[in-house]
Amino acid sequence: MKIFCIGRNYSEHAKEMKAELPSAPIFFMKPDTAILKGSRFYIPKFTNDLHYECELVVKINRVGKNIDEKFAHKYYDEIGLGIDFTARDLQQQCKEKGLPWEIAKAWETSAPLGKDFINKADLNLSKISFKLDKNGETVQKGDSSDMLFSIDKLIAYLSQFHTLKKGDLIFTGTPSGVGPVKIGDELIGYLEDKEMFKLSIR
Ligand code: MG
Repeated sequence: MKIFCIGRNYSEHAKEMKAELPSAPIFFMKPDTAILKGSRFYIPKFTNDLHYECELVVKINRVGKNIDEKFAHKYYDEIGLGIDFTARDLQQQCKEKGLPWEIAKAWETSAPLGKDFINKADLNLSKISFKLDKNGETVQKGDSSDMLFSIDKLIAYLSQFHTLKKGDLIFTGTPSGVGPVKIGDELIGYLEDKEMFKLSIR
């Protein structure tokens, strides 16, 4: 199973990171060991500035390569919600030195994922709202209508480089409001009104 993650897919987030808007999707990958199911997340020792990035997650439902955008909707049925945890301090060093992002983004348990997915037939795909609460306060609010590259565009783009397979996941990018977590925090993610995950930070 492959995990694709999209960078800078919401302009307000690109702005808060002082990054340019991309002219094509930016993607990186995480290994399958990045997935964390369950409710406890342990902050790794190698970072002093761990940030949450709450993201809609698309689950691929069949094999495809070089998928045309107009057929991309046939390659997924379900949408979930997860976090692309980022060691912001290490990412900053990687950016400054022009190094790859794996140590900042692609470590074990860096991708907590809610266990339920919602069938796309039950959603308005062009307007899926989601949010993340930290300790009872909403810190991120997103809507798929604000994506720079739609889900269908992302599938078409990624499938130029990789054969997509059943079960592959696409973390579709985070809206603005990213920020740090510390031990004792509680993160709850909602897709529309449904609670998708609850994480206690240890
Ligand atoms: Mg992200």
